[in-house]
Order: sequence, then structure tokens, then C-alpha cells
Amino acid sequence: MTKKQYVVANWKMYKTAHEATDYIEKLLPQVENSSVRIYLAVPFTSIAPAAHFAKGTHVVIGAQNMNDAREGAFTGEIAALMLKEAGASFVLIGHSERRHIFKEDAALIHRKVIRALQDDIQPILCVGETLQEFEQDQTQQVLTQQLGSALDKIPPEEASRIILAYEPVWAIGTGKTAQPNHIQEAHQICRSILAELFGKKIAATIPILYGGSVKLENVSKITETDNVDGILVGGASLNPQTLAMMVEAIEKKPSRKPKK
Ligand code: PEP
Repeated sequence: MTKKQYVVANWKMYKTAHEATDYIEKLLPQVENSSVRIYLAVPFTSIAPAAHFAKGTHVVIGAQNMNDAREGAFTGEIAALMLKEAGASFVLIGHSERRHIFKEDAALIHRKVIRALQDDIQPILCVGETLQEFEQDQTQQVLTQQLGSALDKIPPEEASRIILAYEPVWAIGTGKTAQPNHIQEAHQICRSILAELFGKKIAATIPILYGGSVKLENVSKITETDNVDGILVGGASLNPQTLAMMVEAIEKKPSRKPKK
């Protein structure tokens, strides 16, 4: 059986609630027969209206960030339970913009993963090396550290609820996409680390997505790469037509066509 494929759109700080519902209205008819899992990580104010619009469809709404505490005196922060109530089913954790611009460290990211699992919102954990680390051939080391700390002490049965996104920092928003052989190798490294942490069987069920300057022109090449279970798309996801065409391209992957 072919493994499920995912397309996760990260809108970052773009689109008002009105623009979000407009987007979903345009997207839905174009993807209604698709078997690809479509996740939209929208700004906080768009979660409730987007979830309302997407209800009963296979488009899933989620958030881009959350606090690690259940509740508390944390002005300006948002809790997993609040996101869930608003209609979010998943949350991005450890995105490179959070790690680098907002200085989120490994310990905080670990606490966020634990909180998300405890409060029943699916974490999409983002990991990846910087350009300097890539140039110094440290991808394996970085992935081992980031995954080891973020997933520390998580029981295997909980781990199967996680989605992983390998996103080389140097490829995010830069127009530079990692080469298929690098993606394949990095995903293989992630899979082996997951197997060490949770055992082979559970590791095989955790989707590993690639993110970093995925566009309509390169989506097929990337998703045909071994061990890639889908994509996380930033800039190119802001147009519903483009997103729908990416979904269609994945649907048409030769490896997804039934074998004769
Ligand atoms: C991202 O925001 O995770 C991302 C991959 O962005 P982009 O597709 O624009 O590189």
C-alpha cells in the first residue's frame, strides 16, 4: 500500500481571517478528490474561521506556534488547549524562524512537544541544519542533537502521533532547494534516529516531510525522492491555485500509481 502523502502549508504572518476563508473557498473545489493530506498552518486569528470553513473536508487547520505551559501569566502567549478549542488540530514546533529569530532553544522545543502531546494537538516538529553546518558536513550531527533533545523521554506510543519536517535552514525562503541525494540522506538519518529512539516499527509510521523553497517546478522531483512523505511549503503555499497544483503533482507521482 502506498504511504499517505502530506502537504503542509505554512502561511507565516500572512493573510487576515477574511483572506484565509477566501483562500480556503478557492482551494476546496480543487482538492476535493485528493488523497493527499492537506494541512494549513494559519495565523492565530484565522484558525477559528478557517476551521469552520474546512469542517467536513479533508483540509486540516493548525497553528504555527504555541506556549509550552498549560496556562499562566504569560502575556501575549497562546496555549495548546486554546488552539484546539479554536479548531487547530496540529501545531508547528521548532520552525527555524522560531529557533533563530525568537531564540527558542532545544529545551523549550522539547517542552513544547511534550505539551502538545499531553494536550492532544499533533506536533509537526521541524529540524534542520544551518548553511554553515551544511558546509561543514554536520547535518547528521545536528539532526541527532535536535531530534534527541526534542523527542527525549517520549514514549513510543506517543511518538507515532508526531510528524517530522526536515527543513535545512539555508533552503527556507531562499530559493535554494536541497538536492534529492541530500534530502534522501537527511531523511534516512532522521528515520534511523527515530528507530533508535522508538524502534523500527514506530519509526516507519512517522511521516518525514521536506521543507525549503518547494515550488511547483521542483515538487515532483522532491516528492519522488525516497523516504519523502510529503512537503512543508512556505512562500509558494500562499496562492491556493499553486497549492492545489502541488497537491495534484504529488497525486500523479509515478510511485503512487497502482503497480500493474
Ligand atoms: C517554511 O516556512 O517552513 C518554508 C519551507 O518556507 P519556504 O517554502 O518559503 O522556503
